[in-house]
Amino acid sequence: RSIWVTGVQTCALPILTDPITTTNSAVPQPQLLWRILLVDDEPTQRLIVARLLKRAGYEVDTADNGREALAKLESGEFQLMITDWEMPEMDGIALCSALRASQAQGYIYTILLTARDSIEHVVTGLQAGADDYLTKPVIEAELIARLNTGKRIVTLERSLRTANEENRRLSITDPLTGAYNRRYLMEQLPREIERAARYARQLSVIMCDVDFFKKINDTHGHLMGDEVLKWFAALLQKTVRACDWVARYGGEEFVIVLPETNVASATTAADHLRAQIASTLFSAPGVNLPVTASFGVSGWKDSTLQGATLDSLIGKCDAGVYASKKAGRNRVTVEGMD
Ligand code: GH3
Ligand code: MG
Ligand code: MG
Ligand code: MG
Repeated sequence: RSIWVTGVQTCALPILTDPITTTNSAVPQPQLLWRILLVDDEPTQRLIVARLLKRAGYEVDTADNGREALAKLESGEFQLMITDWEMPEMDGIALCSALRASQAQGYIYTILLTARDSIEHVVTGLQAGADDYLTKPVIEAELIARLNTGKRIVTLERSLRTANEENRRLSITDPLTGAYNRRYLMEQLPREIERAARYARQLSVIMCDVDFFKKINDTHGHLMGDEVLKWFAALLQKTVRACDWVARYGGEEFVIVLPETNVASATTAADHLRAQIASTLFSAPGVNLPVTASFGVSGWKDSTLQGATLDSLIGKCDAGVYASKKAGRNRVTVEGMD
């Protein structure tokens, strides 16, 4: 129930409030529109059904055949489709199959509306991917009722998809800082390494660790420490390029992955980050704190070499951070992979 409500509220695409199916009137619903694609090669038939649908409050667009319909569906603006069977170029069966095989974003509920009425035809139509099957001549009340079923299915599919996307997002995000979490790093970095090695692309990684962070916790409390971490992560995010990504590796340690970047450029980027952090005060009511961090950088001079592993790359970065700490903190150490 709660997933349903959340899904509906957070949907990117507005959903038309269906007077029959809406039971939770406490939830404010935006004013919305359902878009339906009507596919038929008969102009008169199109006209009749389109008029009927518009009367029922649908936004209607039409197509003459399956091919034209597929092109229109690509826009992603339709949630429902009514299609004829026999049409030139691409018939309704081929259209249903193609739609289900495509990676169309969002479910499109499809009704076959055809003169063919044998049970074999019904089975063939449903097997091709239609959700429902109606025979001509269409009965207005029945078509509207069946479209309401379609709206329920589409709404449900959308709320599930929204919930899934949200779950996925949460599972790869560090809740405190909003950066990617360690799990994502360990999942994604090996893919980056493999891709870079396979296509001989550049790749570098920066690791950083806040200096004397324990002292910040001890002096200002753990909650203020949390605020410093949020600020620190935000500063990293803001300073790196859009294609670089930041993950929280551990308590006050972060990793930045820089695709298409050689180790020399990554070192420059790390020093820029270091300077940025050192020159920006962390500010909170009653507190102005200078914060520094120590950096380790690794990567390849040019293209990524085959056989590199996550462990070897992270290990080099770790060694770099350790060396920076030993040398006095607030500095960058490079440990190249080649
Ligand atoms: P160094 O310069 O050598 O890195 O010293 P440091 O004090 O930063 O390093 P140390 O590893 O001794 O301390 C890290 C501290 O970070 C210890 C731990 O309690 C704290 N910490 C880890 N995770 C969190 C968190 O989520 N919030 C807060 N406030 N503190 C955290
Ligand atoms: Mg036809
Ligand atoms: Mg640490
Ligand atoms: Mg530290």
